[in-house]
Amino acid sequence: MSSPTRLAILGDLLDVERPPATGDSLDTPPPGVRWRPGHWLLIENGRIAAVQAEAPDASWPRDERPGQLILPGFIDTHVHAPQLDVIASYGSELLDWLERYTFPAETAWADPQVAAAGSRLFLDQLLQHGTTSALVFPTVHKSSCDALFAAAQARGMRLLAGKCLMDRNAPPQLTDTVESAERDSLELLQRWHGVDRLRYAHTVRFAPTSSEAQLALAGRLHAASPGSHVQTHVAENRAEVEWVRALFPSDRSYLEVYARHGLLTPQTTLAHGIWLDADDHARLRDTGAVIAHSPTSNLFLGSGLFDWRGRAADGLRLSIATDVGGGVSLSMQRTLAAAYQVAALQGQRLDAFTLLHAATAGNAASLQLGDEIGRLEPGLMADVVAWDWAEPGSVLAHRLGRANSLHERLFAWLTLGDERLLRRVWVAGQVRSGCASSPCC
Ligand SMILES: [Zn+2]
Repeated sequence: MSSPTRLAILGDLLDVERPPATGDSLDTPPPGVRWRPGHWLLIENGRIAAVQAEAPDASWPRDERPGQLILPGFIDTHVHAPQLDVIASYGSELLDWLERYTFPAETAWADPQVAAAGSRLFLDQLLQHGTTSALVFPTVHKSSCDALFAAAQARGMRLLAGKCLMDRNAPPQLTDTVESAERDSLELLQRWHGVDRLRYAHTVRFAPTSSEAQLALAGRLHAASPGSHVQTHVAENRAEVEWVRALFPSDRSYLEVYARHGLLTPQTTLAHGIWLDADDHARLRDTGAVIAHSPTSNLFLGSGLFDWRGRAADGLRLSIATDVGGGVSLSMQRTLAAAYQVAALQGQRLDAFTLLHAATAGNAASLQLGDEIGRLEPGLMADVVAWDWAEPGSVLAHRLGRANSLHERLFAWLTLGDERLLRRVWVAGQVRSGCASSPCC
């Protein structure tokens, strides 16, 4: 693939620096919402060089997309690469779903060729859904983590991942040991952490599948590897919470298991966090650890309703995620639409600007990547996606024709739109999806 080091994209630019404040009118774009229709986004050497109303001089190669929506690439803060094989599996809640579907699928990734092909497919699918960065679970196998990082590196993507740590309560083909986990993690850290746009995340599957010794190891490794992240799950499902209580009887709560091992830091992302109490919320706020709300997963597995507004008011750091394959779509539009519905079931509202912010600048900040991705601003990496507002003749097109404000349009687009509206993806200024001729990269 040959791409220019400079490119000027014309379209309707939208990004959200911060969500609206309580009481802000949504009839006009509130402060923090940047709506720049008919503007040029200039890219040079992989970064956004300028955003301007006037056309650049004739030396700039152009990609003119009048009427298309130009957004920052979406960011997914919790997703499982091997679980595309079991997305939309029938009839389970979390613990049974892991046994019946997920663990067998992850076992297949012991084969490095399966993991390599699966990683390429997974990342290409992320891109085809407009997601340009992610915090990802591969499997317990070191080679699965190598495969995922190699595929992300080849695509120029900002990706965070780490091999799963799980040394008990899982099939033998999916368990490591404290010793092998340490050896493999150190090797992977050395090979990938800080290389190109990759970062290592110490990946505790969840407390039930790690021994005390392995949890302690994860805490030690995190403390000893500057810039590394932690990802795991917490309090997704009530049966899971009861299990953790039985496994760790001396800990006050599920969250305390992680706290005790030094696993709650501003670099930590914990998926779900539905069944936590006020003391846990205070602990999260004080440590700066992030909860990744995964609404389609929570609905699909019947796990519960996360209280976004409540937790935001408590001062917690929050992000939003697909959690495929418990989640049922890699589409961030569908995920945001589900987040709206989960809030509505609790008598609350999440406006479209808050939702878009969550999937872009908010998720970037949650990963401490706000200076690199999530907004359309000079200096940031040019991870950018062009979308159509609607297919001609569709219900969405009809609805947009009756919308009276940007918020009304955007809310309809998030509720009714999906990856079929994607037209072009650039990662660090390079075209990565949406080519007429496939594959483009
Ligand atoms: Zn998950």
